[in-house]
Amino acid sequence: MNIHTSETLFKEAEEHIVGGVNSPSRAYKGVGGGTPVYMKKGEGSRFIDVDDNEYIDFLGAYGPIITGHAHPHITSAIKTAAENGVLYGTPTSLENEFAKKIKSAIPSLDKVRFVNSGTEAVMTTIRVARAYTGRNKIIKFSGCYHGHSDLVLVAAGSGPATLGTPDSAGIPASIAEDVITVPFNEIAPLKEALKRFGDEIAAVLVEPIVGNFGIVTPKEGFLEQVNDLTHETGGLVIYDEVITAFRFNYGSAQNLVGVEPDMTAMGKIIGGGLPIGAYGGRVDIMEQVAPLGPAYQAGTMAGNPASMAAGIACLEVLEKPGVYDHLDNLGAQLEKGIAERASSHGIPVQINRLGGALTVYFTDHPVENYEDAENTDGEKFASFFHSMLEKGINLAPSKFEAWFLTTAHTEEDIRITLEAVDSTFAEMTGEK
Ligand code: PMP
Repeated sequence: MNIHTSETLFKEAEEHIVGGVNSPSRAYKGVGGGTPVYMKKGEGSRFIDVDDNEYIDFLGAYGPIITGHAHPHITSAIKTAAENGVLYGTPTSLENEFAKKIKSAIPSLDKVRFVNSGTEAVMTTIRVARAYTGRNKIIKFSGCYHGHSDLVLVAAGSGPATLGTPDSAGIPASIAEDVITVPFNEIAPLKEALKRFGDEIAAVLVEPIVGNFGIVTPKEGFLEQVNDLTHETGGLVIYDEVITAFRFNYGSAQNLVGVEPDMTAMGKIIGGGLPIGAYGGRVDIMEQVAPLGPAYQAGTMAGNPASMAAGIACLEVLEKPGVYDHLDNLGAQLEKGIAERASSHGIPVQINRLGGALTVYFTDHPVENYEDAENTDGEKFASFFHSMLEKGINLAPSKFEAWFLTTAHTEEDIRITLEAVDSTFAEMTGEK
């Protein structure tokens, strides 16, 4: 495949943009390097790159693109918003409309606030939880990514009640001290951490269905226990649903698992592809937020008409009957097809799937937490990734990410993808 123009653009980018990219994972560091492909057009399930190669896209822009690229209903909403002026700095009726729409899908949200990214949404839920409880520490689960604000960049490896060390330079140890990291899907270490630090814990922050070391679902009863144990010590439970809100159902993971948190952070899908974040929760907690309460949070771009219009339009597409069945049906075909081909080529894989999102891990062990995901074969994934890309299948360049299906994907896309999987597996085993 000729990617000369991408190569030229990446060289130029490296001169002007740090690392050549505006978000680190785009640089293919997780798959042993290479030139990131520069896309010039997205339409439905397909991308065209700057050298006119065509791809079926399963990256979905790391999650937000669930209706396919350039969905006409969303595009038209953005056009109308742009024609009316993209930013006012005054309230607009779109904000009310969108807040009502989200609230009606996620009952635990008494009040919401729109921000510009998932990072901002999570960061603010923590501030509000601290304001509400008068406590400083949080507990998070190892390997869960919650954006790049200081506090949550502490992942600190696994092990019960490990006190945090930052995963990024530039984060003071004094901040990291306020984060305790425990393994996902295990209750004993959480119990121990709450026993030791309970009266200092403002919140336990969790992705109810993990999307950041692949798709990992909670074990039976895990989230119920997270709620009970946290509430016993007077802390709040925050769900980071930046990936999961409107991903698996018209609503959120909390509706699927039947457990409600005190606060929820959202992003990605709810912006229909434009920048957005949102957080919300119980009214007595949300009333901590300025201008009603002492916890400050603001934003020049927050609730801008373009993001609101795109978000409303996206949910209008998603609320149509059959949307999530379509995603689940294609997801099941993909899962079955990959598993069959892996088995016929003798390549051990573990596929974690929920609806239209799945992760293919190169391992023969089940993946239930970060340690399991870390112990999968990154080199195999890297060769799989590059070979699939060469065959016109665009995946996330990381063994920890999911494949995201969209409403625009078709059975024909799955058929073509499985052909690519088959010949990629043949190359990986030296049959070709
Ligand atoms: N939380 C989760 C669960 C995420 O997956 C992400 C982004 N991958 C974020 C927060 C941060 O969102 P953003 O990139 O919009 O700041």
